[in-house]
Amino acid sequence: MIGVDLGGTKLLAGAVDDGLHVHHRAHRSSRGEDQAELLDLAVDAVQEARAAVEGDVLAVGFGIPSLIDQRRGMAVMTVNLPLENVPFRDVMSERLGLPVFLDNDGNVAALVEQRHGAAKGAQEVVMLTIGTGIGGGLVLGGEVYRGAIGAGAELGHMVIDMDGPRCQGACPNHGCLEAVASGTALGREALRIAHERPDSGLGKALAAGSEIRGALVTELAHDGDAAARDALALIGSRLGVGIANYVNIFNPEYVVVGGGVIAAGDLLLGPARAVVAERALSPSRDVVRIVPARFGAESGMLGAATLALEGIGHRAAAA
Ligand SMILES: [Zn+2]
Repeated sequence: MIGVDLGGTKLLAGAVDDGLHVHHRAHRSSRGEDQAELLDLAVDAVQEARAAVEGDVLAVGFGIPSLIDQRRGMAVMTVNLPLENVPFRDVMSERLGLPVFLDNDGNVAALVEQRHGAAKGAQEVVMLTIGTGIGGGLVLGGEVYRGAIGAGAELGHMVIDMDGPRCQGACPNHGCLEAVASGTALGREALRIAHERPDSGLGKALAAGSEIRGALVTELAHDGDAAARDALALIGSRLGVGIANYVNIFNPEYVVVGGGVIAAGDLLLGPARAVVAERALSPSRDVVRIVPARFGAESGMLGAATLALEGIGHRAAAA
């Protein structure tokens, strides 16, 4: 199988076997392309992964950060990428000459974490992938929940501050969890803190000309910089407000957090757990486990491969 995680700024295509071992990874950065260039980039990465492994590739799975209409395999709308009203499944299947399976990036991450990862075997799982935006996925009753046409589980666009900042890209709302607790928001808050505290590690990095982004904040926080830790704690506590809502609504066994920002580990999840303990309803708050994704930043790619694997299995069973 080949699994492709098409993120807001990064694309990862992996050649993956049935045991989820990755035999080749093709990385691309996706910044500023138009739709045609973005599709070319995805095709190119898949071809690289396909050429790098021996044996036949049976199918390709895509996890994309889009609102999807599963009836037609359409990427209807994408907040952080130029994908709008694209018949993605058919276009890719034709260009690659392989069966293509398509789902939202949060859904595929939820799938692989529930089948093989941090929430293995659990029936009720909430998944958040925190990167440029915040993707969401739900496993309810042991199966991925997609809503009526496949566009559901947009957990990042739950509002936690009605009068908050405008959300990103094509989202018309204000104060969504994504607007205040994504990797983008982390970079923004860290930049503000860097200006306020010039003597901190963050402040010095800014003065030295570094771009204040999520990965740098996490690195400084792991090195013990208090300002970087404060930025992560702020984002973590906002995340906790969002998670308290999901805990009340779904009573999940696990809330799994993945995406690039989870490299911060407990520096992010500790403050989130504290807020959930304070704000969510008992008994749901007492049973939920808030854990990092087992597959970390690769949950999207591995989830897309799992989607393709299960998709091929279903086809074979139906034939
Ligand atoms: Zn939004």
